[in-house]
Amino acid sequence: MNDSPPEKVVVIGAGIVGVCCALELQERGVSTVLIDRQEPGAEGAASFGNAGMLSSASLVPLPAPGMLKKVPGWLLNRDGPLAIRWSYLPTLLPWLIRFLRAGNDRRQRSGTAALAALHARTLELHARLARRAGVPDLTVPVEHLQVYRSKRSIDEGFKEWDLRRAHGIDFERIDRRTLAEMEPDLSSHYTQAMLIRDQGRTTDPGRLVQALARRFVDIGGRFVHAEVRAIQGDSGRIRSVSVGDGDRCIEGEGFVLSAGIFSKRIGLSIGLSIPLDSENGYHITCPEPKVRISHTVMDGEYKLVANPMDPGLRFAGMAEFSGADSPDNPRRIEVIARLAKRMYPNLSLEGFRSWRGRRPSTPDGLPVIGPSPSHENLWLAFGHGHTGMIAGPMTGQIIASMITGSALDIDVFPFQAERFHNG
Ligand SMILES: Cc1cc2nc3c(=O)[nH]c(=O)nc-3n(C[C@H](O)[C@H](O)[C@H](O)COP(=O)(O)OP(=O)(O)OC[C@H]3O[C@@H](n4cnc5c(N)ncnc54)[C@H](O)[C@@H]3O)c2cc1C
Repeated sequence: MNDSPPEKVVVIGAGIVGVCCALELQERGVSTVLIDRQEPGAEGAASFGNAGMLSSASLVPLPAPGMLKKVPGWLLNRDGPLAIRWSYLPTLLPWLIRFLRAGNDRRQRSGTAALAALHARTLELHARLARRAGVPDLTVPVEHLQVYRSKRSIDEGFKEWDLRRAHGIDFERIDRRTLAEMEPDLSSHYTQAMLIRDQGRTTDPGRLVQALARRFVDIGGRFVHAEVRAIQGDSGRIRSVSVGDGDRCIEGEGFVLSAGIFSKRIGLSIGLSIPLDSENGYHITCPEPKVRISHTVMDGEYKLVANPMDPGLRFAGMAEFSGADSPDNPRRIEVIARLAKRMYPNLSLEGFRSWRGRRPSTPDGLPVIGPSPSHENLWLAFGHGHTGMIAGPMTGQIIASMITGSALDIDVFPFQAERFHNG
């Protein structure tokens, strides 16, 4: 690879991750082209309809010791947070085996340290980007409540809370009465809660991505609305990406693959094989909820998040493994609506809108951020699973620093793609 940084970089995918990479590159003077098959921030991206938590406390990777014991209970509970389409199991199996292998104490500790560093400045970085994009109201500080119906379930998570404490997260266990004062419309069946301070949220993730993409264009970046068919290259270098019907090529000196779950398919066109699967999640957004909510609130057992957003009160969650191309599952929407009413009995569901999104999830719960193992001018930025909104701005900084040869102030070793090829 030449020592001088590439003059023109092509970024594939304009979800939160791709937009943050493109924006940061353009800000640093690199002529950048951002390609997406839809308008940035539109419904087809996971970045459109997520729960909008910009929470540095989300730092414990999903694979955890003892997971194997919990999974059958979750799967048997028809309202549980996890679902697998059984016909998809053979396809998922290699991913699942890696996932279960990653759930040990040592890897949980090291993964937590990696995510803590990646997520630590999320609100500050988001607020700066939103301010520059002229939408400061879209990212706001918040106190987050994680609520439980039984003492046993809050106590079961003690290890995760210890890890959070070790990484400087400021939280406090609160009693039933305090909880009722803070969230009077929340069901009184919730008797236990953790209050986490200094967190953030967005009031509209889709609009945030849209605004950041607009800023990218305003400062000279070029957005191309087209479907990427394949990446083309030889002898360890990428030359171009083919778009549309495959008859058009966009050339560049450097390339960033940041197409969320679809990074896997696009990567295969150059023989890049990364274990990535779609953890399908759903939301309902209630335009006239008729309940008050002044925090982000997560049901700690069912992993359902409530966030009062501009389009309405959003409830988002669920992890359904059925592949990226499976049809939407209306049962998941029914479950979310039922759980939302369980959280807020007076909630009005009238006119609610629903959505399904594809979390790009790696089996060890860490994203892939860094150079491609096989092509010297390709960088990878995908696999952010449950925390892509949180990690988007920092990922953009890391990728832009790597491409421009600037110093990094974070250990990126845990995010390298090679980890999947070393056992
Ligand atoms: C229900 C739910 C709740 C969530 N809650 C949170 C949360 O509270 N906080 C948080 O941090 N994260 C949350 N997440 C996760 C978060 O949404 C994702 O990690 C993040 O959006 C991933 O961003 P991305 O840019 O990698 O992918 P995406 O947002 O999916 O963007 C990928 C882009 O690539 C484009 N693309 C794909 N293929 C092609 C192609 N061939 N050609 C051209 N363009 C292409 C797509 O159109 C899309 O715009 C949640 C996810 C879900 C589903």
